[in-house]
Amino acid sequence: MAMASLCPCGSGGAVEACCGRYVLGAAHAPTAEALMRSRYTAFVLGEVDYLIATHHPTQRHPNERQQLVKSLENTDWLGLRVLKTQQGQGEDRQGQVEFIAYYQDPKPGQIHERSRFVKQRDRWFYVDGDPLPPILPRPKEPCWCGSGKRYKGCHG
Ligand SMILES: [Zn+2]
Ligand SMILES: [Zn+2]
Repeated sequence: MAMASLCPCGSGGAVEACCGRYVLGAAHAPTAEALMRSRYTAFVLGEVDYLIATHHPTQRHPNERQQLVKSLENTDWLGLRVLKTQQGQGEDRQGQVEFIAYYQDPKPGQIHERSRFVKQRDRWFYVDGDPLPPILPRPKEPCWCGSGKRYKGCHG
């Protein structure tokens, strides 16, 4: 995996000082938000093993690896915005994180979700999430893809 660059999660830090530590197994994500961010980064980097390992064991299903591999092949992840975090801190047993993940496959789209996380034996796991309606930029606002163009007309 490519290191020594900005973390895909958008924290502004280097990937090896941010989500890279968790994705490579050097440390466990200390909060629900850190786990959520690292899972986004794992999607960007194609780290399927990490995505499965951080999915709560009761929620895994037999075709999960195949489905992940397929979606990773077809999807370009453009960015992540964390909107809201509830609990999910060091002493909590559960937490929720609302986020938007932007992608292209090949049309641009977004996943707006409120995700649930639980902590068991000092490790955070993604359980599941409620899909929420997309939050689109106004036409004159910058596009989410980072092109620097206005949203209106960027992909049109
Ligand atoms: Zn990160
Ligand atoms: Zn765009």
